[in-house]
Amino acid sequence: MTRFFISPNQITNGLVTLGPDDAHHLKVVLHANPGDLINVLNGCGTEFIAKLDEVGKSRATARITTIIHLDTEAQTRITVAQALPKVADKMEQVLQRGTEVGAHAFWAYESARSLTHLPRERHLKRLTRWNEIVKTAAEQSHRARLPEVRADQDFSQVLAAAGQFDLSLLAYEGEAKTTLRSALESQPTPPKSVLIVIGPEGGFTDPEARAAAKAKLQSVSLGKRILRTETAALIMVAQLLYALE
Ligand code: SAM
Repeated sequence: MTRFFISPNQITNGLVTLGPDDAHHLKVVLHANPGDLINVLNGCGTEFIAKLDEVGKSRATARITTIIHLDTEAQTRITVAQALPKVADKMEQVLQRGTEVGAHAFWAYESARSLTHLPRERHLKRLTRWNEIVKTAAEQSHRARLPEVRADQDFSQVLAAAGQFDLSLLAYEGEAKTTLRSALESQPTPPKSVLIVIGPEGGFTDPEARAAAKAKLQSVSLGKRILRTETAALIMVAQLLYALE
């Protein structure tokens, strides 16, 4: 059954109203008809099975028949702060695969060696596309909630937010001693929220590594081999969830 993420205000008195993109997908791609069943997710952990009433070009409606409380979210909330890679496709891979693996949120940030500032209009277009990628990946991977996507911070703002998390980690290719495993083992209790900060293709500068240490981020090595930026993010989310859940 096809899954659609909607916002809670698209449900009134048991009737779901889908907007133009979803209506187009239902009508043109899936050739759906009134009476067909669809899955609808409200992004807050509830899934609904609904029977289509009407499938138009710009609007579709469906009546809720069943309510299901989903249990597909990771208990550990991992926020991936990803330095904007120079190659746009890499950021999209992080968003798509990171959503599948179970990341809670994505913060794209500018660092010393990452992409330079985009004009506002192009930036907003890019953000819309990123949210669309996350939505499709969340629907495909049966996520109960949509990961948040932010792109309004630079490196210093990401560091300043580190205190909001139980554990904040800098994936640092220059870290010789501390591994992800030893960082986790040194925690008094398993962290419920983790910030992971990943560098761009060119890595972190020395001043950035020092600033992160000053902001109390624990720098960790992901092993002896250097991973591509998009690989590092995914490996880290997967390893954290494996270790903590
Ligand atoms: N240009 C850098 C170099 O040659 O050392 C490599 C940068 S790496 C491609 C991009 C980012 O992925 C790094 O800044 C880091 O956040 C993460 N990363 C990749 N391999 C890592 C490793 N073995 N340990 C920790 N972080 C790693």
